[in-house]
Amino acid sequence: MRAVDIIIKKRDHCELSREEIEFFVRGFTTGHIPDYQVSAWAMAVLLNGMTPRETTDLTLAMAQSGEVLDMTDFVKGVVVDKHSTGGVGDKTSLVVLPVAAACGLPAGKMSGRGLGFSGGTLDKLESIPGYRVDLTTGEFIRQLVETGIVLSGQSRDLAPADGKLYALRDVTGTVQSMPLIAASIMSKKIAAGAQAVMLDVKVGLGAFMQTLEDARALAGIMVSIGELVGRRVVTVLSDMNQPLGEAVGNILEVREALDALHGGGPQDFREHCLVIAAHMLMLGAAAPDLVTGRRMAEQAVDSGAALEKFRDLVRAQGGDVSYVDDPEKFPKAKFIETLTADRNGYVSKLDARLIGEASVALGAGRAQKGDRIDHAVGFVVHHKIGDFVERGQPLLTVHANDAAKQAEVRESVRAAFGWSETPVPPLPLFYE
Ligand code: URA
Repeated sequence: MRAVDIIIKKRDHCELSREEIEFFVRGFTTGHIPDYQVSAWAMAVLLNGMTPRETTDLTLAMAQSGEVLDMTDFVKGVVVDKHSTGGVGDKTSLVVLPVAAACGLPAGKMSGRGLGFSGGTLDKLESIPGYRVDLTTGEFIRQLVETGIVLSGQSRDLAPADGKLYALRDVTGTVQSMPLIAASIMSKKIAAGAQAVMLDVKVGLGAFMQTLEDARALAGIMVSIGELVGRRVVTVLSDMNQPLGEAVGNILEVREALDALHGGGPQDFREHCLVIAAHMLMLGAAAPDLVTGRRMAEQAVDSGAALEKFRDLVRAQGGDVSYVDDPEKFPKAKFIETLTADRNGYVSKLDARLIGEASVALGAGRAQKGDRIDHAVGFVVHHKIGDFVERGQPLLTVHANDAAKQAEVRESVRAAFGWSETPVPPLPLFYE
């Protein structure tokens, strides 16, 4: 078999066999197939899609590209994982993992870095000085057993094919592919040994799935892959037309997550976290139903138990806990500028994609594989869709470390706002 023939076959809209998919995944995992061929193949998949059978074969080949853990050997209780398909301002894991752990659920998650215009939990966590995201599988398991909570990167021996492909997709315009997203997420979940998975499928302008129909299809593929390998998968479809919460950018988002763990923060973000946490608690049999799960999640936040778990997490992974206790210690961007509304009106649009792209332009995400990111930069939005805003009121604050980049994004973030003279209903947090 030759990699080029597999690329050509996909380019020509043909269905790949399981053997071809396994050959290709093995080849790029071992480095025998070079990045340029993997990129060409990923583009062919993005353009021409995959059948459900090809997607399942790709997922299993990627999961089996490394070790596949069986957590029942190590942890008592149901190991529930949580994953979002990616969005702007989505710092949910930083809150729901500690909430779940505070409620007694083993909370171990392998997260990813930013992908295209969407942020990544690992980049956010690395804002905390000393925080290690490169735990080995052994360290991951030990910490889960001892501390009940782990939030780390994918260790090299788990689904290494995804690690390689993920970094390439980020910089080759091949993120928005339903089979590649489904295989990326589910291969990690299968390899990391989660028995149940809570999937938050984002839909809207700032998500990889722009329509409810596509989001539903992606959710459906992931649920059927889960069923095939005996894992329970629950999905919610949640809004990503506008950023979640108010903060976009690594340190800014960590600070907002800390506010939420203190019982404050933006209402939409708190609500989103409580719903996701309630589902996780139910999936993990820690709560008999959603209402009880939600009440447990609220108590975990309001009692400070979830914040305490977050401190345990940071300490266990070598992070400096003094930043958790005193978020003012986090470095601030050099240029902080608040843009104000230039009219009276109702906010009818707050384009999450434009805000996400502008945050990458400021340095909060990567333009090229391996780029260093600037943790301090980003935005804080002061109004969301449905709000009435008067001329001169704060609209959005830009945090930049480079005056030229600050000037560059000023207009694009203004253009992210749409206006109406008549009232606009707020967007739902969840569609299904
Ligand atoms: N999250 C992932 O882990 N992979 C994707 O492809 C998209 C979101």
